[in-house]
Amino acid sequence: MNDFGGVDDLYRDFILDHYRHPRNAGTLENPDATFEDNNPLCGDRIRMDVRIAGDRIDDVRFAGRGCAISQASASLLTEAVKGKTVAEVEQLSDEAVLENLGISISAVRLKCALLGIKVLKSALALKRG
Ligand code: ZN
Repeated sequence: MNDFGGVDDLYRDFILDHYRHPRNAGTLENPDATFEDNNPLCGDRIRMDVRIAGDRIDDVRFAGRGCAISQASASLLTEAVKGKTVAEVEQLSDEAVLENLGISISAVRLKCALLGIKVLKSALALKRG
């Protein structure tokens, strides 16, 4: 038994679970905010639909395809931001998103891990504009 290997497996399972069973997958009818973008380095694509009630994220859905890191990160993000205020999400740092992911992300994978939050912030920025 290798304890460190065990921890790695745990995190990997966590990511793979979100990848295989994404939370809040799909789209919203008449979303208050929506945006879609891709990460050409990896071929990841993510769309985020947001419903806003007052100043809060009432519902959020994502649709996309790509690597496990990009899709799992987006899935985790939708869970994390539901119920938060728009301002709170706009202030969410890349570091916080990576921390939420729970695994160390190599430099080449950063764009994968951060595509979801980038798309979500773009959607909210367009909504405000
Ligand atoms: Zn990727």
